Amino acid sequence: MAATPATPASARRKPGRHRGEGQWAVGHHTPLNGNEQFKKDDDGLNVRTRIETIYSKTGFDSIDPNDLRGRMRWWGLYTQRKPGIDGGKTAVLEPEELDDKFFMLRVRIDGGRLTTEQLRVIGEISEEFARGTADLTDRQNVQYHWIRIEDVPEIWRRLEAVGLSTTEACGDTPRVILGSPVAGIAEDEIIDGTPAIEEIYRRIVGNKEFSNLPRKFKSAISGSPLLDVAHEINDISFVGVHHPERGPGFDVWVGGGLSTNPKLGVRLGTWVSLDEVPDVYEGVISIFRDYGYRRLRNRARLKFLVADWGAEKFRRVLEDEYLGRKLTDGPAPQEPAGRWRDHMGVHRQKDGRFYIGFAPRVGRVDGATLTKIAEVAEQHGSGRLRTTADQKMVLLDVAEDRVDSAVSALEALDLRVTPSPFRRGTMACTGIEFCKLAIVETKARGASLIDELERRLPDFDEPLTININGCPNACARIQVADIGLKGQLVLDDDGNQVEGYQVHLGGALGLEAGFGRKVRGLKVTKDGLPDYVERVVRRFQEQREDGERFAT
Ligand code: SF4
Repeated sequence: MAATPATPASARRKPGRHRGEGQWAVGHHTPLNGNEQFKKDDDGLNVRTRIETIYSKTGFDSIDPNDLRGRMRWWGLYTQRKPGIDGGKTAVLEPEELDDKFFMLRVRIDGGRLTTEQLRVIGEISEEFARGTADLTDRQNVQYHWIRIEDVPEIWRRLEAVGLSTTEACGDTPRVILGSPVAGIAEDEIIDGTPAIEEIYRRIVGNKEFSNLPRKFKSAISGSPLLDVAHEINDISFVGVHHPERGPGFDVWVGGGLSTNPKLGVRLGTWVSLDEVPDVYEGVISIFRDYGYRRLRNRARLKFLVADWGAEKFRRVLEDEYLGRKLTDGPAPQEPAGRWRDHMGVHRQKDGRFYIGFAPRVGRVDGATLTKIAEVAEQHGSGRLRTTADQKMVLLDVAEDRVDSAVSALEALDLRVTPSPFRRGTMACTGIEFCKLAIVETKARGASLIDELERRLPDFDEPLTININGCPNACARIQVADIGLKGQLVLDDDGNQVEGYQVHLGGALGLEAGFGRKVRGLKVTKDGLPDYVERVVRRFQEQREDGERFAT
């Protein structure tokens, strides 16, 4: 059974006005929804033993429904959508009617750090067990599809043999820790957060003290001045800053998150050293576990608690109840000099070698391509690669006289080192191909949109982000894109219901961060999408004023 964590000092207080929200810290332990019940019945991490000893031998149909659609997420497994069910049925069918007898499996890649040995194993697993699928996600993970329960123990064995895991890749858990794809190597780096990512992984991930959270807990740590991990929309983020007296360290943000009721994170106004990061992470995730709202799933993310408390109270509780000391005040991050917040192209490292960022379309690669990327990395670098928070990759440690050859080898795989703004700035979630919540297609449509826009607008050369979601959730961050496309069914000119998108315009991250405006009534059909984006881009080119960027 799941352990109830030690109750903090605050539990001795009188129940406050949030007692009804299901906060453990005010003594409200009664499960209030089905998810809280199954988590109380058995810790999600315990499902691994059943997968290894029972389900992988007795097959899909033998899986307990609470494991199938609940606890298996603690090990990165989601059931995938049965092919051929159209988006209009998504909301009306029962979960079991949407389930295929295969799984999506997410491999967490904390900090996006990969060796070629690991990438080869990821590629081999894709080829052998996942029908070649292997998508790069916007949280630096890799996702497989078509996984059979019978093969899961062997997949884990191979991943874990090279230091990878699927532990808490999904579920109400500490998810993958995002990190700068150029941590430790970039010339302009403020501070390398890698040691903190490693310590948090060691201390928190797979630890049953933190395996029953109110909902998912997303985190990011980057010391890059490019602000390259979308820190504004994580539950906790550590952003590299220079303190005038103390030097390089991190500014702490909490309570960001998209989906319904999107909120940008807020600064706690503190400066923490690299050594302090794991303690502060542990303090914040503990606040979430103890004070987070567990009554309603749609109010359970940390952002709702932060919105109710405000940054000042949140910091006070963190300091007084969890850290037992005051934190140092600190400065805010600077606005990045460049407009793109990624690492595409060829850049000099601090050791004189080069890193090369490259782009597939909307994160779609496959096992064979990943194996070839590993070969290119072995032939040209030292065997290190990174995934990015934009569905891209970076090859590290290339000697100057090997750069041209590496670029040619990547381009030969249709991985663009100098991608068009459309390939560079377009992301798409999983969509109706595999996702049970989806209403429309996303990946293939995103890829064809890129090709079409490159053909129609060959001279366009401005930063532009186009994010495509298959449903009202926010897996591809539509609210913070220049053009956000939220999948839904719309009417075409003849009044027929077809796949299409609600348009959000003008979202952004960075110091101008804000959510795109939903343009009332503006919906485009799937077939009208290229025309619509072309029109918006051309109008921007014609009407913009000096220095105006797309989102303004
Ligand atoms: Fe699925 Fe919706 Fe997330 Fe896309 S945004 S992956 S359709 S839940």
